[in-house]
Amino acid sequence: MRLAIVVPCYNEEGVLTNSARQLNEMLCHLAEKGKISENSFILFVNDGSKDKTWELIEKLYRGDRHIFGLNLASNRGHQNALLAGLMTVKDICDAAVSIDADLQDDVACIEDMVDTFAQGFDIVYGIRSSRKNDTFFKRSTALTFYRLMTWLGAHSIYNHADYRLMSRRALQSLSEYPERNLFLRGIIPTIGYKTATIPYERKERLTGKSKYPLRKMVNFAIEGITSFSIKPIRLIFSMGFLILFITLIVAVYTMISFFLGYAVEGWTSLMLSFWFLGSVLLIAIGIIGEYIGKIYLEVKQRPRYNIETFLSHDHE
Ligand code: UDP
Ligand code: MG
Repeated sequence: MRLAIVVPCYNEEGVLTNSARQLNEMLCHLAEKGKISENSFILFVNDGSKDKTWELIEKLYRGDRHIFGLNLASNRGHQNALLAGLMTVKDICDAAVSIDADLQDDVACIEDMVDTFAQGFDIVYGIRSSRKNDTFFKRSTALTFYRLMTWLGAHSIYNHADYRLMSRRALQSLSEYPERNLFLRGIIPTIGYKTATIPYERKERLTGKSKYPLRKMVNFAIEGITSFSIKPIRLIFSMGFLILFITLIVAVYTMISFFLGYAVEGWTSLMLSFWFLGSVLLIAIGIIGEYIGKIYLEVKQRPRYNIETFLSHDHE
Protein backbone atom coordinates (compact mmCIF):
# COMPACT_ATOMS: atom_id res chain seq x y z
CA MET A 1 0.00 0.00 0.00
CA ARG A 2 1.56 3.25 -1.13
CA LEU A 3 0.74 6.12 1.21
CA ALA A 4 0.91 9.80 0.31
CA ILE A 5 0.89 12.50 2.96
CA VAL A 6 -0.28 15.81 1.51
CA VAL A 7 0.72 18.99 3.31
CA PRO A 8 -0.46 22.44 2.15
CA CYS A 9 2.05 25.14 3.12
CA TYR A 10 1.66 28.89 3.12
CA ASN A 11 4.51 30.89 4.64
CA GLU A 12 5.58 27.94 6.76
CA GLU A 13 9.39 28.28 6.65
CA GLY A 14 9.43 28.32 10.45
CA VAL A 15 7.82 24.92 10.96
CA LEU A 16 8.61 23.07 7.75
CA THR A 17 11.94 21.41 8.62
CA ASN A 18 10.63 20.08 11.88
CA SER A 19 7.35 18.94 10.33
CA ALA A 20 9.17 17.17 7.51
CA ARG A 21 11.33 15.31 10.02
CA GLN A 22 8.36 14.21 12.14
CA LEU A 23 6.33 13.08 9.14
CA ASN A 24 9.31 11.26 7.71
CA GLU A 25 9.87 9.42 10.98
CA MET A 26 6.24 8.35 10.89
CA LEU A 27 6.61 7.18 7.30
CA CYS A 28 9.73 5.13 8.10
CA HIS A 29 8.09 3.68 11.19
CA LEU A 30 5.07 2.53 9.16
CA ALA A 31 7.27 1.16 6.38
CA GLU A 32 9.37 -0.81 8.87
CA LYS A 33 6.24 -2.36 10.30
CA GLY A 34 5.25 -3.29 6.76
CA LYS A 35 2.03 -1.30 6.95
CA ILE A 36 2.94 0.88 3.98
CA SER A 37 5.30 0.35 1.09
CA GLU A 38 8.83 1.72 0.87
CA ASN A 39 7.92 4.13 -1.94
CA SER A 40 5.37 6.03 0.15
CA PHE A 41 5.97 9.75 0.20
CA ILE A 42 5.19 13.19 1.60
CA LEU A 43 4.00 15.87 -0.81
CA PHE A 44 4.50 19.47 0.27
CA VAL A 45 2.27 21.87 -1.63
CA ASN A 46 3.57 25.41 -1.65
CA ASP A 47 0.56 27.71 -1.89
CA GLY A 48 2.29 30.79 -3.30
CA SER A 49 4.22 31.56 -0.12
CA LYS A 50 5.95 34.90 0.17
CA ASP A 51 8.79 33.53 2.30
CA LYS A 52 11.40 30.82 1.71
CA THR A 53 8.94 27.91 1.93
CA TRP A 54 9.47 26.69 -1.65
CA GLU A 55 13.28 26.92 -1.46
CA LEU A 56 13.05 24.86 1.70
CA ILE A 57 10.82 22.27 0.01
CA GLU A 58 13.30 22.01 -2.88
CA LYS A 59 16.10 21.46 -0.40
CA LEU A 60 14.15 18.77 1.45
CA TYR A 61 13.29 17.16 -1.90
CA ARG A 62 16.93 16.94 -2.92
CA GLY A 63 17.94 15.42 0.40
CA ASP A 64 15.29 12.72 0.65
CA ARG A 65 13.58 10.45 -1.81
CA HIS A 66 10.45 10.31 0.33
CA ILE A 67 9.81 13.99 -0.15
CA PHE A 68 7.92 15.38 -3.14
CA GLY A 69 7.09 19.01 -3.80
CA LEU A 70 4.37 20.87 -5.66
CA ASN A 71 4.61 24.57 -6.33
CA LEU A 72 1.44 26.47 -7.13
CA ALA A 73 1.84 29.50 -9.35
CA SER A 74 0.04 31.74 -6.85
CA ASN A 75 -1.69 31.73 -3.49
CA ARG A 76 -5.05 29.98 -3.96
CA GLY A 77 -5.96 29.38 -0.32
CA HIS A 78 -5.84 26.34 1.92
CA GLN A 79 -8.69 24.37 0.28
CA ASN A 80 -7.42 24.81 -3.26
CA ALA A 81 -3.85 24.01 -2.28
CA LEU A 82 -5.04 20.84 -0.58
CA LEU A 83 -7.11 19.86 -3.60
CA ALA A 84 -4.14 20.48 -5.91
CA GLY A 85 -2.07 18.12 -3.76
CA LEU A 86 -4.75 15.43 -3.55
CA MET A 87 -5.43 15.51 -7.28
CA THR A 88 -1.70 15.26 -7.98
CA VAL A 89 -1.32 12.11 -5.88
CA LYS A 90 -4.63 10.43 -6.70
CA ASP A 91 -3.20 8.23 -9.45
CA ILE A 92 0.12 7.46 -7.80
CA CYS A 93 -0.93 6.30 -4.34
CA ASP A 94 -3.39 3.90 -2.72
CA ALA A 95 -4.40 6.29 0.01
CA ALA A 96 -3.63 9.89 0.93
CA VAL A 97 -3.57 11.57 4.33
CA SER A 98 -3.97 15.35 4.41
CA ILE A 99 -2.47 17.27 7.32
CA ASP A 100 -1.63 20.92 8.06
CA ALA A 101 2.01 21.99 7.91
CA ASP A 102 2.07 23.16 11.52
CA LEU A 103 1.35 19.58 12.72
CA GLN A 104 -1.18 20.75 15.27
CA ASP A 105 -2.89 17.50 14.44
CA ASP A 106 -1.38 14.48 16.12
CA VAL A 107 0.98 12.71 13.68
CA ALA A 108 0.69 9.44 15.63
CA CYS A 109 -2.90 9.26 14.41
CA ILE A 110 -1.67 8.46 10.89
CA GLU A 111 -0.89 4.93 12.03
CA ASP A 112 -4.48 4.44 13.23
CA MET A 113 -5.73 5.87 9.96
CA VAL A 114 -3.62 3.44 7.96
CA ASP A 115 -4.82 0.52 10.12
CA THR A 116 -8.42 1.58 9.63
CA PHE A 117 -7.85 1.85 5.89
CA ALA A 118 -6.43 -1.68 5.93
CA GLN A 119 -9.69 -2.85 7.49
CA GLY A 120 -11.50 -1.67 4.40
CA PHE A 121 -12.55 1.89 5.19
CA ASP A 122 -12.31 4.43 2.38
CA ILE A 123 -12.42 7.67 4.33
CA VAL A 124 -11.04 8.05 7.85
CA TYR A 125 -11.76 11.36 9.59
CA GLY A 126 -9.55 12.73 12.34
CA ILE A 127 -11.80 14.24 15.01
CA ARG A 128 -10.55 16.62 17.68
CA SER A 129 -11.53 15.18 21.02
CA SER A 130 -11.28 18.53 22.78
CA ARG A 131 -10.52 22.11 22.01
CA LYS A 132 -8.84 23.01 25.26
CA ASN A 133 -5.78 24.42 23.47
CA ASP A 134 -7.86 26.85 21.46
CA THR A 135 -8.63 30.34 22.62
CA PHE A 136 -12.14 30.81 23.95
CA PHE A 137 -12.83 32.96 20.91
CA LYS A 138 -11.81 30.33 18.34
CA ARG A 139 -13.68 27.63 20.22
CA SER A 140 -16.95 29.51 20.43
CA THR A 141 -16.83 30.82 16.85
CA ALA A 142 -16.12 27.30 15.58
CA LEU A 143 -18.99 25.84 17.59
CA THR A 144 -21.38 28.51 16.32
CA PHE A 145 -20.26 27.73 12.81
CA TYR A 146 -20.91 23.97 13.09
CA ARG A 147 -24.33 24.62 14.68
CA LEU A 148 -25.25 27.10 11.95
CA MET A 149 -24.10 24.70 9.24
CA THR A 150 -26.17 21.85 10.64
CA TRP A 151 -29.21 24.05 11.10
CA LEU A 152 -28.86 25.22 7.51
CA GLY A 153 -28.85 21.63 6.36
CA ALA A 154 -25.22 21.34 5.21
CA HIS A 155 -23.90 18.13 6.70
CA SER A 156 -20.39 18.47 8.08
CA ILE A 157 -18.49 16.36 10.56
CA TYR A 158 -18.26 17.95 13.97
CA ASN A 159 -14.76 18.94 15.09
CA HIS A 160 -13.18 17.55 11.96
CA ALA A 161 -10.71 19.83 10.21
CA ASP A 162 -8.92 18.72 7.07
CA TYR A 163 -7.01 15.92 8.77
CA ARG A 164 -8.17 12.71 7.09
CA LEU A 165 -7.25 9.70 5.05
CA MET A 166 -8.87 9.06 1.69
CA SER A 167 -8.54 5.96 -0.43
CA ARG A 168 -7.69 6.12 -4.09
CA ARG A 169 -11.27 5.59 -5.20
CA ALA A 170 -12.53 8.23 -2.76
CA LEU A 171 -10.02 10.65 -4.31
CA GLN A 172 -11.25 9.58 -7.71
CA SER A 173 -14.82 10.46 -6.69
CA LEU A 174 -13.64 13.78 -5.31
CA SER A 175 -12.06 14.61 -8.64
CA GLU A 176 -15.47 14.29 -10.25
CA TYR A 177 -16.85 17.26 -8.34
CA PRO A 178 -16.42 20.08 -10.80
CA GLU A 179 -17.49 22.90 -8.51
CA ARG A 180 -15.29 25.95 -8.11
CA ASN A 181 -16.53 26.94 -4.67
CA LEU A 182 -14.57 24.48 -2.71
CA PHE A 183 -15.55 23.44 0.79
CA LEU A 184 -13.93 20.04 1.18
CA ARG A 185 -15.36 19.32 4.61
CA GLY A 186 -18.83 19.58 3.16
CA ILE A 187 -18.16 17.74 -0.09
CA ILE A 188 -16.30 14.74 1.27
CA PRO A 189 -19.13 13.39 3.48
CA THR A 190 -21.33 13.34 0.35
CA ILE A 191 -18.90 11.02 -1.46
CA GLY A 192 -20.08 8.00 0.51
CA TYR A 193 -18.18 4.70 0.92
CA LYS A 194 -17.35 3.18 4.29
CA THR A 195 -16.10 5.87 6.67
CA ALA A 196 -14.63 5.86 10.17
CA THR A 197 -13.52 8.48 12.69
CA ILE A 198 -10.47 8.63 14.93
CA PRO A 199 -10.24 10.99 17.93
CA TYR A 200 -7.06 12.90 18.74
CA GLU A 201 -5.83 15.87 20.78
CA ARG A 202 -5.04 18.95 18.78
CA LYS A 203 -1.92 20.80 19.87
CA GLU A 204 -1.01 24.44 19.82
CA ARG A 205 0.80 25.92 16.85
CA LEU A 206 4.55 25.77 17.64
CA THR A 207 5.81 28.72 15.64
CA GLY A 208 4.37 31.14 13.18
CA LYS A 209 0.90 32.64 13.27
CA SER A 210 -2.37 31.02 12.32
CA LYS A 211 -3.13 31.70 8.68
CA TYR A 212 -6.79 31.87 9.59
CA PRO A 213 -7.49 35.29 11.07
CA LEU A 214 -11.12 36.24 11.78
CA ARG A 215 -11.57 37.64 8.29
CA LYS A 216 -10.66 34.33 6.66
CA MET A 217 -12.75 32.35 9.16
CA VAL A 218 -15.81 34.44 8.33
CA ASN A 219 -15.16 34.01 4.60
CA PHE A 220 -14.76 30.29 5.12
CA ALA A 221 -18.07 30.09 6.98
CA ILE A 222 -19.92 32.08 4.29
CA GLU A 223 -18.33 29.87 1.65
CA GLY A 224 -19.42 26.73 3.47
CA ILE A 225 -22.99 27.88 3.92
CA THR A 226 -23.65 29.33 0.49
CA SER A 227 -21.98 26.40 -1.26
CA PHE A 228 -24.25 23.89 0.39
CA SER A 229 -27.52 25.40 1.45
CA ILE A 230 -30.37 27.22 -0.22
CA LYS A 231 -31.98 27.87 3.17
CA PRO A 232 -31.06 31.59 3.13
CA ILE A 233 -33.20 31.98 0.01
CA ARG A 234 -36.12 30.23 1.70
CA LEU A 235 -35.59 32.55 4.65
CA ILE A 236 -36.13 35.56 2.40
CA PHE A 237 -39.25 33.91 1.10
CA SER A 238 -40.76 33.38 4.54
CA MET A 239 -39.62 36.82 5.63
CA GLY A 240 -41.52 38.24 2.69
CA PHE A 241 -44.69 36.46 3.85
CA LEU A 242 -44.24 37.64 7.40
CA ILE A 243 -43.90 41.23 6.26
CA LEU A 244 -46.91 40.87 4.01
CA PHE A 245 -48.90 39.76 7.03
CA ILE A 246 -47.66 42.71 9.10
CA THR A 247 -48.49 45.04 6.22
CA LEU A 248 -52.07 43.72 6.22
CA ILE A 249 -52.47 44.53 9.90
CA VAL A 250 -50.95 47.97 9.34
CA ALA A 251 -53.32 48.54 6.40
CA VAL A 252 -56.39 47.67 8.48
CA TYR A 253 -55.15 49.94 11.25
CA THR A 254 -54.56 52.92 8.97
CA MET A 255 -57.91 52.47 7.20
CA ILE A 256 -59.75 52.45 10.52
CA SER A 257 -57.83 55.55 11.67
CA PHE A 258 -58.67 57.24 8.38
CA PHE A 259 -62.41 56.56 8.57
CA LEU A 260 -62.62 57.52 12.22
CA GLY A 261 -61.31 60.90 11.18
CA TYR A 262 -58.05 61.15 13.09
CA ALA A 263 -55.61 60.89 10.22
CA VAL A 264 -52.44 61.30 12.27
CA GLU A 265 -49.35 62.88 10.84
CA GLY A 266 -47.77 59.42 11.06
CA TRP A 267 -44.29 60.64 10.46
CA THR A 268 -42.71 58.34 13.06
CA SER A 269 -44.36 55.15 11.88
CA LEU A 270 -43.70 56.06 8.28
CA MET A 271 -40.04 56.65 8.88
CA LEU A 272 -39.77 53.47 10.93
CA SER A 273 -41.34 51.22 8.34
CA PHE A 274 -39.44 52.96 5.58
CA TRP A 275 -36.12 52.21 7.21
CA PHE A 276 -37.14 48.78 8.31
CA LEU A 277 -38.24 47.70 4.85
CA GLY A 278 -35.19 49.31 3.33
CA SER A 279 -32.87 47.25 5.46
CA VAL A 280 -34.81 44.04 4.92
CA LEU A 281 -34.66 44.59 1.18
CA LEU A 282 -30.96 45.25 1.29
CA ILE A 283 -30.29 42.09 3.28
CA ALA A 284 -32.44 40.10 0.89
CA ILE A 285 -30.66 41.48 -2.15
CA GLY A 286 -27.35 40.75 -0.47
CA ILE A 287 -28.21 37.11 0.05
CA ILE A 288 -29.49 36.70 -3.50
CA GLY A 289 -26.37 38.43 -4.72
CA GLU A 290 -24.25 35.86 -2.92
CA TYR A 291 -25.86 33.06 -4.89
CA ILE A 292 -25.67 34.93 -8.16
CA GLY A 293 -22.00 35.48 -7.44
CA LYS A 294 -21.60 31.74 -7.00
CA ILE A 295 -23.40 30.99 -10.26
CA TYR A 296 -21.21 33.53 -11.97
CA LEU A 297 -18.03 31.91 -10.72
CA GLU A 298 -19.30 28.40 -11.41
CA VAL A 299 -20.32 29.22 -14.98
CA LYS A 300 -16.85 30.47 -15.82
CA GLN A 301 -15.40 27.02 -15.04
CA ARG A 302 -12.01 28.50 -14.39
CA PRO A 303 -9.26 26.15 -13.28
CA ARG A 304 -8.91 26.16 -9.52
CA TYR A 305 -5.15 26.12 -9.48
CA ASN A 306 -2.18 26.05 -11.81
CA ILE A 307 0.84 23.94 -11.10
CA GLU A 308 4.23 25.41 -11.75
CA THR A 309 6.52 22.51 -10.78
CA PHE A 310 6.01 18.95 -9.61
CA LEU A 311 9.02 17.34 -7.97
CA SER A 312 8.77 13.57 -7.73
CA HIS A 313 11.19 10.71 -7.20
CA ASP A 314 9.18 8.35 -9.41
CA HIS A 315 10.81 7.28 -12.73
CA GLU A 316 14.32 7.67 -11.35
N1 UDP B 1 -2.60 27.39 4.20
C1 UDP B 1 -2.47 27.40 2.81
N2 UDP B 1 -2.86 28.52 2.12
C2 UDP B 1 -3.37 29.63 2.73
C3 UDP B 1 -3.52 29.59 4.16
C4 UDP B 1 -3.13 28.45 4.86
O1 UDP B 1 -2.03 26.42 2.21
O2 UDP B 1 -3.70 30.60 2.05
C5 UDP B 1 -2.18 26.18 4.96
C6 UDP B 1 -1.22 26.44 6.11
O3 UDP B 1 0.12 26.46 5.67
C7 UDP B 1 -1.50 25.25 7.02
C8 UDP B 1 -2.99 24.99 6.79
O4 UDP B 1 -3.32 25.63 5.56
O5 UDP B 1 -0.79 24.10 6.62
C9 UDP B 1 -3.86 25.49 7.93
O6 UDP B 1 -3.53 26.80 8.28
P1 UDP B 1 -3.35 27.27 9.79
O7 UDP B 1 -2.59 26.25 10.57
O8 UDP B 1 -2.77 28.64 9.78
O9 UDP B 1 -4.88 27.33 10.28
P2 UDP B 1 -5.49 27.01 11.74
O10 UDP B 1 -4.76 25.82 12.27
O11 UDP B 1 -5.26 28.22 12.56
O12 UDP B 1 -6.94 26.75 11.47
MG1 MG C 1 -2.90 25.32 12.27
